Amino acid sequence: MVFDGSVYRNDDERFMAEAIAEADAAAADGEVPVGAVIVRDGEIVSRAHNMVETSRSSSAHAEMLAVEAAERRLGTKWLTGCTVYVTLEPCSMCAGALVLARVSRLVIGTMDPKAGACGSLRNIAADDRLNHRIEITAGVLEERCSTQLKKFFRAKRRKTIAEDRTDNQSAADRSAVIQNNGGNS
Ligand SMILES: [Zn+2]
Repeated sequence: MVFDGSVYRNDDERFMAEAIAEADAAAADGEVPVGAVIVRDGEIVSRAHNMVETSRSSSAHAEMLAVEAAERRLGTKWLTGCTVYVTLEPCSMCAGALVLARVSRLVIGTMDPKAGACGSLRNIAADDRLNHRIEITAGVLEERCSTQLKKFFRAKRRKTIAEDRTDNQSAADRSAVIQNNGGNS
């Protein structure tokens, strides 16, 4: 458990704080900060964070890695009775994986209007046409989850702008050199 001095009102907040700690670990590796933990009977059975860059794999999302780890640990293909805590609303791939794994409950930190598939763009986790539906609770520690993502992208934008400036500067230097050489010949 993380002891960050915060007071949590319930288990959902406590476990979401664990998912946030995972997302922090992702950010430290330069990954988009998304973290997930899977809980059964009040105990964490697996935890993971986004590793798309580190593992050079477009599908290495926190939820996918957490599901794989939980299935390995529990020795089952289904995660019935498990709750998945994730800092950002799952995408279509992850929502599909959670349905296939028959996860009982999904707790979301902040919604993802651009790619979310658990209520934003569509709702794969609660689609009556599929053979399994997941109970969803959204907005747990929402402020912290969304601030964490915003901070990451803000810093990334700043870095890109700084790099662009350096590139432009060296391009200007190069062109100055070329002009000087041209003048001398
Ligand atoms: Zn995903």
